[in-house]
Amino acid sequence: MKVRDALRSALLAWYDRQARTLAWRVSPADRRDGVRGDPYRVWLAEVMLQQTTVPHATPYFLSFTQRWPTVSDLAAAPDGELMGAWAGLGYYARARNLLACARAVASDHGGVFPDTEEGLRALPGVGAYTAAAVAAIAFDRPANVVDGNVERVMARLNAVETPLPDAKPQLKALAGDLVTAERPGDWAQALMDLGATVCRPKSPLCDLCPISAWCEGLKTGAAGTYPRKTKKAERPRRYGVAYRLTRGDDVALVRRPPKGLLGGMLGLPTSDWRSTPWSDEEALAVAPVAAAWQDRGTVEHVFTHFSLTLRVFAADGTHDGDFVWTPREGLDALPSVFLKAARTGERLI
Ligand code: SF4
Repeated sequence: MKVRDALRSALLAWYDRQARTLAWRVSPADRRDGVRGDPYRVWLAEVMLQQTTVPHATPYFLSFTQRWPTVSDLAAAPDGELMGAWAGLGYYARARNLLACARAVASDHGGVFPDTEEGLRALPGVGAYTAAAVAAIAFDRPANVVDGNVERVMARLNAVETPLPDAKPQLKALAGDLVTAERPGDWAQALMDLGATVCRPKSPLCDLCPISAWCEGLKTGAAGTYPRKTKKAERPRRYGVAYRLTRGDDVALVRRPPKGLLGGMLGLPTSDWRSTPWSDEEALAVAPVAAAWQDRGTVEHVFTHFSLTLRVFAADGTHDGDFVWTPREGLDALPSVFLKAARTGERLI
């Protein structure tokens, strides 16, 4: 038996025994009986899982599929409702893309997802990874599904010395060499599971690994040091001010512009976010209304491309202004950076 076939058989046999039970997954046994994943559920899960862990994404997945059981239901959801349901998952551009994609599937494809990688890739907001994952898992196409987990497994399995990100094309090619027309959906998920549960980022459990016999990284005695990485530039820091204006039990929110970070979301009014800290005078000069603002401390938040230090100023009373007055109990739907700011120094909330 060729090395590739032996390795594939070993991993697929392991997957048959050990596949994780996931809310969006069809078990290997059911797949053998011909059951296929619902492309809507596979796509939704893949979008949610980008930058989000399985335990964190699962309740969102269950609530989304209960509320919007089909892609056409999701397409009909008002923007604000979907954004509110997404709050807490972060990376809000994904939510906007989700809606754009659902609407394209509903209006241009009669509510049916295209069944090829190319067709899926043409949908708004669907990148190479998501297209490959849906093609493989929902339609059993022999697509090469490569995320960070798979890159890590490939780097270790082949002891790839080239550091990331330069190694990406090589790792993708190595993963592609293992894809065949036999059980492509299970293969993609088996690799994902191996990366998530055995070939883990920090300390791989090589003793439990079904493909350890072929692992070059293991032979070096330092499998966990792969993939090699180029030293990361430090994330830049930005500074801003958030204003928490209350009127009794209500809090003043503003809708952010549709484009840009947290676009279209409700949030506390803020200053610009810039590269230097804000003094008290500067912060008060750009406050949304004149009021007896009090310093309530700072919150820290990390976005993909920068870290944010946000000073929080609070005031109470009646004020004119173009605000969306929202009861305190409605604040849980805010993006987490604003929720943190709203909860800082709870005296006025
Ligand atoms: Fe990963 Fe260890 Fe398996 Fe190699 S033997 S693939 S390093 S878990």
